Amino acid sequence: MTQNSDNAPLFKRVPSMCAKCMALLDHEVVSMYAKGTIKKVRCLTCGTEQKYSKEKAGKPGKVDPARDFDLLNEKFSGNKPQRYSMTGLFKLGDVIDHNTFGRGFVVSALNKRMEVIFSDQPRILVFDRKEMDI
Ligand SMILES: [Zn+2]
Repeated sequence: MTQNSDNAPLFKRVPSMCAKCMALLDHEVVSMYAKGTIKKVRCLTCGTEQKYSKEKAGKPGKVDPARDFDLLNEKFSGNKPQRYSMTGLFKLGDVIDHNTFGRGFVVSALNKRMEVIFSDQPRILVFDRKEMDI
């Protein structure tokens, strides 16, 4: 089977970062360039139409400076990273060193869950768990 590239189906769904929802969500393709690349997408969650950019897929169009890895990396370059563990104690502004994901920055910490910005994407990690909870 060959790919039918000049007759790409409309309403194809692609994962894209919604600038409004601030999350990686399913988007419906609204329009495409003649070349077959995606031009505009609509967020299936909030309905916002936005430009689709392949390089930016997975990153918000408007990056919140408080959650941008490069900016955080600059801001906290002097902080010594702490090794991440589920039983560790972390707080807002901490720099962590994760076995798999590498360096990350804690941007929120609540109810033993924290949001950490890594170079590829933000992740929710647990912390302050007792051995018994794991
Ligand atoms: Zn949205």
